[in-house]
Amino acid sequence: MKTHGFFAESAEAPLKPFSFDRRDVRSNDVAIEILYCGVCHSDLHQARNDWSNTLYPSVPGHEIVGRVTDVGSDVTRFRVGDRVAVGCMVDSCSHCDQCRQGDEQYCREGATWTYNGIDRITKEVTFGGYARHIVVRDDFVLSVPDSLDLSRVAPILCAGITTYSPLRFRNVGPGSRVGVAGLGGLGHMAVKLATGLGADVTVISRSKSKEGSALALGAGGFLVSTDSQAMKEAAGSFDLIIDTIPVQHDVSEFFPLVDIDGAIVMVGQLGATPAFNTSPLLIGRRQLAGSIIGGIAQTQELLDFCGRKNILADCEMIRMEEINDAFVRLEKGDVHYRFVIDMASFTEMV
Ligand code: NAP
Ligand code: ZN
Repeated sequence: MKTHGFFAESAEAPLKPFSFDRRDVRSNDVAIEILYCGVCHSDLHQARNDWSNTLYPSVPGHEIVGRVTDVGSDVTRFRVGDRVAVGCMVDSCSHCDQCRQGDEQYCREGATWTYNGIDRITKEVTFGGYARHIVVRDDFVLSVPDSLDLSRVAPILCAGITTYSPLRFRNVGPGSRVGVAGLGGLGHMAVKLATGLGADVTVISRSKSKEGSALALGAGGFLVSTDSQAMKEAAGSFDLIIDTIPVQHDVSEFFPLVDIDGAIVMVGQLGATPAFNTSPLLIGRRQLAGSIIGGIAQTQELLDFCGRKNILADCEMIRMEEINDAFVRLEKGDVHYRFVIDMASFTEMV
């Protein structure tokens, strides 16, 4: 099937329109007309080759929401017209211990990413959701609860699950004291989800400018990371900090903030960090950990949780051709709190 998308042709080039083929529907595939796609900071990292692994041409986008247009002969869970979603993975080996326990993102053979991955059958590079259509193996397609406003669901598929997974892994619930470092796409979902799980949430931000909106999102506290006095006073006041900061930073500044047995989970920056002193980790049995996205079953659990609680992302809707301006603003941390591409704008363009 011919489809239209936007792609990066190199790390320096702005994204441009692109026509390409989606594969024919296999017996276990679902074909989807994409209605909305979120703009994750990872899309920007990947388009710019920040991780030195981008395969060009690259079509980003892994926060995908749409409607089913066709299903393969073996598909039983979806029908034409269903409201569905696709996140960061479109396939995995399905038989290793990680896949069997529902952690396909840690598949021993490597999960197939929605974009910049390699299709397990055709060996072609996968193209993501900055496009009008996508074809995905049924086991990696999620159902969107009827109660949710479709235009505000897309960020749940990456920003949401990336923060929900460590919250669940660390049994966050009523009484948990959770800090969220970096109030962007991931951070704002972390605030909503941790609050939804009953935790007391504090946003840790670079400046005071987002205080009002942090409290409006449900946070009970606000800590300015550049205010050394406030940081000192906050020592030992968290059980868990979710660090969503996308750039190199000194994570050890957060160590004293967590209580004994507390944890800092890095979900943002990938790569080297400045050297740090391990003393606060050892003396306090504190943990420094990492996490990526979450499994398919847990992503469905999250969508259903959001459906019950009516948790939605705060989205700034953009037209497809506004993506390059959105990237510039995203790089500056100037988004409240997620850009989402309205694919109807694309349909008008081509
Ligand atoms: P975002 O919307 O740009 O938000 C990042 C926030 O970090 C900013 O709003 C800002 O919050 C803070 N920040 C601190 N220093 C910054 C700096 N120098 N430049 C820009 N922001 C800075 O990004 P996102 O979409 O939430 O993604 C965050 C990171 O998570 C990215 O690196 C992305 O690749 C990664 N990610 C990881 C996973 C995973 O599976 N682990 C999944 C998705 C994304 P304040 O203004 O409050 O300080
Ligand atoms: Zn993402």
